[in-house]
Amino acid sequence: MADLMTLREAAVILDADLVTLVHIIEVGDTVPTPPVAKDFKDIVFAPDDIEPFRAELRRRRFEAFKAEYADLYAEDTGPGARHLEFGPGWEGILREFCDGLRDFQAAGYRTRLRWGKEKFGALRLFTDCADEIAAYVGERRGIAYGKSLRTCQECGELARLRFGHSICLTLCDRHKHLVGEPDPERDGIILDVDAWSRQQREGERG
Ligand SMILES: [Zn+2]
Repeated sequence: MADLMTLREAAVILDADLVTLVHIIEVGDTVPTPPVAKDFKDIVFAPDDIEPFRAELRRRRFEAFKAEYADLYAEDTGPGARHLEFGPGWEGILREFCDGLRDFQAAGYRTRLRWGKEKFGALRLFTDCADEIAAYVGERRGIAYGKSLRTCQECGELARLRFGHSICLTLCDRHKHLVGEPDPERDGIILDVDAWSRQQREGERG
């Protein structure tokens, strides 16, 4: 088996960082053909594994989206640049949101998507738009936020917010292992961290 390669060698060929490759393997849908070692330093790839990983990396970089929505989104560059910093399962929500922005553009209003991120298991999108439509765009951002809390950020299946002891993410049954052991004090109890925080503050005020 002389042609097997280490994780590090695969990362160089794929031009990807180790953390991203380890994450893809932990998600479990794209894995190397040789049995996956417990310690990631011992993970090996066969030559045929490179192409599926390349495709998965393209999906995670939203390359198809970027090509199709170049009129609305140009990736930030330079120091401190922000990107589309969330999982590929939310691409459908992202496209729907941008289709909405296109409607505003078609009506003659300036609007663009700047960047987006996952925080507390929810999708937050950042836009530039004309003042006249800011409230409408804000409403669409809220819709995208709400949908993200019901959509697995890895695969797009029906999901809910999962609380581990050190992380919370919106995941389906098949991917809930990514938060580790559920935290019984919060898992299944807090389903929207922002809404929960607001309730806590209102409770304190009486
Ligand atoms: Zn999933």
